Parts: sequence; C-alpha cells; structure tokens
Amino acid sequence: MIFPDNRYRQLRAIQAEDFHTCFYCGCIATEFDFAPPKAHWQSYQYRQLSADNLQVPACKECVALLKPCTMGLVQQRREWVHTKIAAKYKKAIGVYLKWNEDELEELDFSLHHSIAAGLKLGEESHRRSNFQGFSHEIDGSKVADVLPAAMPIVLFDKQFDSLKDAILYVCKNYPITQPKLVERLAEQGNNIEAVVMEIQEEQEVAQFQRQLKIQSAAFAKKHNQSARFVSNEVERYLDKELAYSIAEALDLLYEERVKHYR
Ligand SMILES: [Zn+2]
Repeated sequence: MIFPDNRYRQLRAIQAEDFHTCFYCGCIATEFDFAPPKAHWQSYQYRQLSADNLQVPACKECVALLKPCTMGLVQQRREWVHTKIAAKYKKAIGVYLKWNEDELEELDFSLHHSIAAGLKLGEESHRRSNFQGFSHEIDGSKVADVLPAAMPIVLFDKQFDSLKDAILYVCKNYPITQPKLVERLAEQGNNIEAVVMEIQEEQEVAQFQRQLKIQSAAFAKKHNQSARFVSNEVERYLDKELAYSIAEALDLLYEERVKHYR
C-alpha cells in the first residue's frame, strides 16, 4: 500500500479505457512519476520554480528513463521521455519508417524475421514517443477535454496524421526512395517540407543539366563545335546573366563567338 503524498495532486484518467495507462507513452502504468521528483520538491518550493506538483500514472520504463530528469512540469517531463524513447529505439523506428508491411513477403527468412520485428517495435516506439496523454482530472476536478494534439505533419497544403503517411506520400510523388528520405529527414530534424523543397531544387538542377546537355550537343553538332566547349560557354553566359535561358545563351554564343569565325 502506497500512501498518497499530499504534496502532490493526483492526475487521474477520466475515461475508463485510459485507466492504468502511462500518461507519457500510453503503455500500461504500474507506477507513478512525480513532477517534480520527490527529492527536488523542496528545492522547487524554496526557489519558487514553476512546478506542477503532480503525481502522474506512468509505466516502468518511463519512470526509469525519467530518473535523471529533475524537471517540474509534466509537459517538460513528457518531452524528456519522448526524446529518450526515440533515442533508445532509434534503430527500430528507422525500420518502421523505411519499410512497409507489404515488402515483407519478398524477403528471405532471416531478413523477414528481423524486419518484421523492427516494424512492430518501431511502430510502437514511434507511437509512444508521440503520445499526447489523455483527458484527465486533477484531485477530482476535470482539467480539459481537449488535449494538446500531436502536431500534424504538414506538407505545403496537405496534412498527414502520421510521419509515416507523409513519407509514403512523398515517396510516391517524388524521385526519392523511402530509406533515403528517412535519412534525410533525420538530418533535417524531421522537417519533411524542408526535405521536399530540397528534392524539388535537385529536380530543377537535374532538369537544367539534362537540357544543357541536350541543347549543347545539338548546337555543337549543327555548328561543328565540341559539345564540351558549348556547354562550358553556356554556363559562363548563365553565370553572368542569371535570367538567360539556355536557348538565349546559345544564341549569344553563336552571335558573339561562333558566327564571325566561320
Ligand atoms: Zn510510459
């Protein structure tokens, strides 16, 4: 029997389905977390730091991950634990984001086995590290019906419920593979819009290079020059005058450098 510590108010779920649920990650709660930790309660009082003074249902793993955390607000403690879960299960979350269920059947036995396990663990860890709590009451009075919702994933004018949905959409519509996209997301702090803008820029550059090659080769053939000379010249014109198109640069090249010397 644990006696309630009256320095802390109790945070309790309102809906039956949330009873015994960890407020931080959604797993089964078997213990309590204290915001701030009991050992720091007094120091928060003396220093008049902002603290929730709440006793929060939590799972064993979250309590363990929160051991070094001295923060006094539940929201801060949630962010702490989410960061820790995301780091601890980084590999599995990577599998979950890079692979899809329907790819499993093509794999050989051992790869199938490890990817399937990674997908399951990764999905769970991803969900836990984004869990936003449940409607609750504090010392018997209801706090709020509306929870701080997880930030929706926004990509230009589209919204996605999960990062994985957004990843699948991007892979379907842009020239990038799922593993590559996930790697680049990690580099960009999961900002999918930033990654897509990079991809669009790269597409433009590639498109330009293709056009430069095609048009320079045609010009070179027509005027009996080397294609390399032509494309170098075009790039020089374009460096000087950004507004020129490849065709305009080729016209100039013809006027200024080719025509008179023939
Ligand atoms: Zn938990």
